Amino acid sequence: MEFNIFEHFKGMGVTSNQPTNHYEQGANYFSSGHLGARVRDRLDSFAERVNMPRRSFMKTVCGFTGAMLAVNQATGMRFFDVSEAEAMEQAAAHEKNALLKSHLNYVVDQHTHICWRRDGFVAGVNTSEKGMWFVDLLDGLGKAMGLEKGIQDMTVENYGKLILDESDTTVGIFNPFGFREDYGGQDMIPIEEQVEVRNRWPNRTIMMGGGLTPNQGLEYTLDRLQMFVEDYQISGLKLYTFDSTPQRGWWFDDVKLAYPIWEKCRELGIKNVGCHKGIPFGQFMARYAHAEDFDAVADDFTDMNWIAFHSAWPYHSELAALKSFKPQRNNLFCELGSTFAATVTSRPLDCAHVLGTLLRDLGSDAVLWGTDSVLWGNPQWQIEAFRRFRIPDELIEGYGYPQLTDELKAKVLGTNAARLWGLETASNTPPAEPSRIVAA
Ligand SMILES: [Zn+2]
Repeated sequence: MEFNIFEHFKGMGVTSNQPTNHYEQGANYFSSGHLGARVRDRLDSFAERVNMPRRSFMKTVCGFTGAMLAVNQATGMRFFDVSEAEAMEQAAAHEKNALLKSHLNYVVDQHTHICWRRDGFVAGVNTSEKGMWFVDLLDGLGKAMGLEKGIQDMTVENYGKLILDESDTTVGIFNPFGFREDYGGQDMIPIEEQVEVRNRWPNRTIMMGGGLTPNQGLEYTLDRLQMFVEDYQISGLKLYTFDSTPQRGWWFDDVKLAYPIWEKCRELGIKNVGCHKGIPFGQFMARYAHAEDFDAVADDFTDMNWIAFHSAWPYHSELAALKSFKPQRNNLFCELGSTFAATVTSRPLDCAHVLGTLLRDLGSDAVLWGTDSVLWGNPQWQIEAFRRFRIPDELIEGYGYPQLTDELKAKVLGTNAARLWGLETASNTPPAEPSRIVAA
């Protein structure tokens, strides 16, 4: 099975191919992967019709809309709401973008990161070989997405620039990385560094704590959790059930190792707990990327919300079954970080099935927008691709998926997360900088 989602960006970031704006970033990405050759051929012909070299054409709005049109044409299915005129006339593409933005302007990104820390990552000094593999992966992805210095550009500064200033993101929820065994005994991104994001943009960001695994000692873990809440005012947790300890992983439904953490969360007022699920990358064991441990915690801690990051793709059907067969639940959520970006470009049919399955089974109130930026540079191309994405009629007919209407997209893009995190929105037209309701 062709399944290395991280393969097809390799080499894209080398010097002259580095994208300079979000249109080119998206067009480049659509031009890679297994549909790449067919997308490039069509972009060549669109560019020719407006008398531009393809590379320059791809920097324009039509380069990006043209890439989405090319996917429709190459697959013979309507994955994107885009017209032929929009691949040729910039005014037409801008006009449609403005219309979509006016309906879908409130965007909460559930899945964002900074990935650089002050003392950097030096192989053999503060970073193990396994740790370096992840650093290199992020470095390559960042370069492919227009960050000149790759992972070194994934800073607090660029979080503000790329996500909050240059994209339509209204609120960013940022996530930690732990794995301290691989990073010289401190979390990959230490909490005292990542808190700078929240401190600089307190009205537009929410901080999740993390880097906790009971395999580092349960008492120690509970103490750190308390410290995160008391000293850093975290709003939720984003954890990893695979880890870099000798035990390699743990489960959310472990009554001895995990339940004391959830009880402590209750005591401290933390209600939203997420976990990396799916995308079983690198050194980590795939078994811990399955979502089956959400089954028991969802029932045993009904007053808490459980968020499967990456929507557990490619195990999203297992996640969805935890609700479709147990419809009484209303505390299971999923988010789309990296899953949408990786599928929408080179396997749109997969993207439609993933979104369709999640919306049909977990429900339209449970799917949260996420981009996993700043790993993916500026998230704007992802936002624009989602605003135009549709589930082809054949799939709606054959699988009973709901259509991705604007009403449904508005929920996914922002209002579901607003409810989950207690964010203020003024119905469909929120203020530019919504302020957070302080939890009681
Ligand atoms: Zn992530």
